[in-house]
Amino acid sequence: MELPIFKYSPNAYRINVFENEEGICDCCNENRSLRYTGSFYSEEEPDYICPWCIENGKAAEMFEGELNDYEGIENAELIDKELLLEVSERTPSYVSWQQEVWLTHCNEPCKLIGYADGKVIKPILEEIEDDIEGSGYDKEFIIENLSVDGSLVGYLFQCQKCNKHRLHIDCD
Ligand SMILES: [Zn+2]
Ligand SMILES: [Zn+2]
Repeated sequence: MELPIFKYSPNAYRINVFENEEGICDCCNENRSLRYTGSFYSEEEPDYICPWCIENGKAAEMFEGELNDYEGIENAELIDKELLLEVSERTPSYVSWQQEVWLTHCNEPCKLIGYADGKVIKPILEEIEDDIEGSGYDKEFIIENLSVDGSLVGYLFQCQKCNKHRLHIDCD
């Protein structure tokens, strides 16, 4: 069966928030082989959520939960509520040290491309200059120390409309 594609996280199956595991989804009760392991904020924590129940919003609805922190979406006041909810309730999260932040551009949530290290960001430094400045670290330090799984992790986003890259930096 074709896996659902997430508009705001097109590489969701490659960023370590799903694992191959046979089981029954707590939401749709179907036999599935892909379990969501990313963050899910709810009172009652489901044990097994499948990608389909994320995509159609059933998991968020049934457990009254969020996959991504609604409050963590940048410039939310400029963006249609429906799009914000698509990020918080119908988009898989990512692996992070702190509460996730979702970057936006052109009044829309960006899509998450994936984790980024110094090598990944080098060719697009100009585009993400403001983000680096805003991080409080200097550019050389970032290029040298940013990694995809260390204590200073880069998250590369891209605007849905103008294709500009954005970078979020998280540290432990
Ligand atoms: Zn399901
Ligand atoms: Zn843009």
